[in-house]
Amino acid sequence: MNRIWIYESELRAIAQETLSWKSETGGDLFGKWGSEPTIFLATRLGPQSRRSQSQCQFDLHFLEQISTAMAVDWGLQFLGDWHSHYRSGVTHPSRIDRNRIGRLIERNGFERVLEFIATIVTPESEAIQKTQVHGYIFPKAHWYSPDLLEIGLIPGVSPLREILTLRDAPLAQDWNAWQQVSTDQVSGWVTTVQPPVELVHSYRDSFARRAILHLIFQLETTFQIPVVDAISDNGRDFSMQIADTDIRLRFSETWPFPIVSVQARSGSETSSFDPDQEFVTAFQCDRVVAVIRSLIGRVHHTDELPPLSV
Ligand SMILES: [Zn+2]
Repeated sequence: MNRIWIYESELRAIAQETLSWKSETGGDLFGKWGSEPTIFLATRLGPQSRRSQSQCQFDLHFLEQISTAMAVDWGLQFLGDWHSHYRSGVTHPSRIDRNRIGRLIERNGFERVLEFIATIVTPESEAIQKTQVHGYIFPKAHWYSPDLLEIGLIPGVSPLREILTLRDAPLAQDWNAWQQVSTDQVSGWVTTVQPPVELVHSYRDSFARRAILHLIFQLETTFQIPVVDAISDNGRDFSMQIADTDIRLRFSETWPFPIVSVQARSGSETSSFDPDQEFVTAFQCDRVVAVIRSLIGRVHHTDELPPLSV
């Protein structure tokens, strides 16, 4: 049987979203193909979607927007989508589902598409509601008869979700809602095989590398200056000269890359960020830019940034 890997947070996100509606619902799956595809993000439907007891309609504008963000920012592909069959008890894709996915494959020239089907399996009266999730792969050659997948669970939170949560990324998601449902509330064709530890570490490293590049890019475009990047024994140092102000930013290279210090100096005036007052990580590009702006303001005794060009 084919196997797919999904982070525990993403499977719980599917279950949580399924249990939140008195109708069908769904979302998109983003990740990487490979001999065994890996899902890093399971979303909820976009704001313009429609849900009913017997079907749900995807918000295609939202899908386009989020697919672009996933591809450009993270190098991830749209692997397929998921939807719930509410309380119908049907764990396989319906004829309507198969035709929809067939059209998706043919229209976009996809080689294959994944589809997860979630169902609620407990009577409505039960205090703790449970779900089942089944995964299918629709190969281009025989999309009308998809293959059932074995679901491999990667323990913990997807590194992508962690970063997007820290950034509170504006992609119409509730980044923390998955925590409302425990792993015990989700079952299905889930294998007990564990993913290789090195692989899981390498995923984290690759998301962290991209997130740090986003920070460099944001600093360079916001302040129109180059960032000098150096690795030291105590972490990683970014230094930059913004007009007459010298900025030094240090962050730890231990997940989630917390900021250890930020210092602004102009002439004899200095101003520092206190990490004990606020937890900020290098993944939070907007927040880091705001900290630097406020330090520059403090060394110049103004709320306004000094002119950026020298
Ligand atoms: Zn369906």
